[in-house]
Amino acid sequence: MSFNCRFAPSPTGPLHIGGVRTALFNWLLARKNNGKFFLRIEDTDKERSKEDFKLQIINSLKWLNIDYDGNEYIQSKNISKHVAAAEELVKKGFAYKCYCSEDEINEQKEKCKKQGIPYVYNRKWRDPKDLKIPKDLKPVIRFKSKISGNTIIKDLVQGERNISNSTIEDFIILRKDMTPTYQLSATVDDHEMKITHVIRGDDHMINSFKQKQIYEAMKWSVPNFAHIPLIHSEKGKKLSKRDNASTINDYIKIGIIPEALRNYLLRLGWSYKDKEIFSLKESIDLFNFEGIGKSPSKLDMSRILSMNETYIKSMNEKDLFKKLIEFSQEFKTKIDESKENIVFKALNFLKNKAKTLEDIYNNSLYIISDNLKISNDDKSLIDKKSQEIISNFITDYEKLSDLNKENLEQIIKNLINKHKTNFKGVGQPLRIGLIGTKFGPGIYDIILSLNKTTVINRLKKIV
Ligand code: GLU
Repeated sequence: MSFNCRFAPSPTGPLHIGGVRTALFNWLLARKNNGKFFLRIEDTDKERSKEDFKLQIINSLKWLNIDYDGNEYIQSKNISKHVAAAEELVKKGFAYKCYCSEDEINEQKEKCKKQGIPYVYNRKWRDPKDLKIPKDLKPVIRFKSKISGNTIIKDLVQGERNISNSTIEDFIILRKDMTPTYQLSATVDDHEMKITHVIRGDDHMINSFKQKQIYEAMKWSVPNFAHIPLIHSEKGKKLSKRDNASTINDYIKIGIIPEALRNYLLRLGWSYKDKEIFSLKESIDLFNFEGIGKSPSKLDMSRILSMNETYIKSMNEKDLFKKLIEFSQEFKTKIDESKENIVFKALNFLKNKAKTLEDIYNNSLYIISDNLKISNDDKSLIDKKSQEIISNFITDYEKLSDLNKENLEQIIKNLINKHKTNFKGVGQPLRIGLIGTKFGPGIYDIILSLNKTTVINRLKKIV
């Protein structure tokens, strides 16, 4: 059996994190089943669709390494087929022209509102026998939804879902200006693209019931449906832009790496035994409909960060460095080429405890930037005694012909004894002088990563 699926975002905003997960699930299933995964840009809403968002969707999928088969499918190019399907439905008696004016519809909506009942179109033009067609009004085309009986969907995630047909109104498939609505375009395109599995967020469940009726009316084979529960915010609410974690850009700009985000999203709402970390191959081999949960998943930033930390730790350093360079260039200041090699060599400790690329970048600042800024709080920690310790350190350090950890350890040990202090008493002022803050990498790593002149010049500035 063939397996064709698609991700069908509307380019009306930046790619949402829920959309990313939908794309990932579709892609994994297509790759697992030797099927096809298509990207369909649903851009029929001309007002709200933007080229920039389309490019951003394409680039985000690229960033995640989610590749799609063929070129992206642009829905607006297929409008004539959608219109033809609407006309065919009218011809076959499954759809009809509705001449209700906007005022009339608004009046009905008001009435329902007053009665506290949900608005449903009253099917006035379903049987136009006694009605006079107004000359000055263009009709919309409505689908003749079934009135009696039930529509059943055997959802691959949710199980059997059943809806009473009386609750589905005669929905519009072609607007007055002859533009198709989502219900029609999506159905026609899924049919044209030979989609066998429609996998999307469960906010589309009601659409699937409507679309199933269109398939049946057109005598097209109905695809399998799978509705994935939505992703909620940490507070358990629907994700909104205000959450700062709703779009993929929110993650890219703090330096989450794609492999970690992919792994996190895979585990968000899907499980396989107790396994947490999945290689790409494992994700493809093991992913299945059965493991997808039925209730909404809650986004957990601390888990994303710890997943990112795990990936940063275990990742090949050359790859990590490349990502760091790209990240700095895009979101921070480009790392000067003369500093690149020093950062690369120091990466093994700069990445320690780093949860994001931004953390690594911040840890590297003492190498990257020539002007260290020391905060007043940190400056106030450098008292007379610290200054004396640093002066002594400079003297001993200048004399060193062989720069290595053992020699540095000896110097620091001597200073601890001489000044009757502890490791912090020596290490802290040195760190503040060399990197501008008391927090940061180990003092030996810092000293050995900088050249002798830099170490001396920086320390001299605070004595
Ligand atoms: N354009 C719709 C959306 O972004 C697609 C829904 C579907 O997958 O059919 O929600």
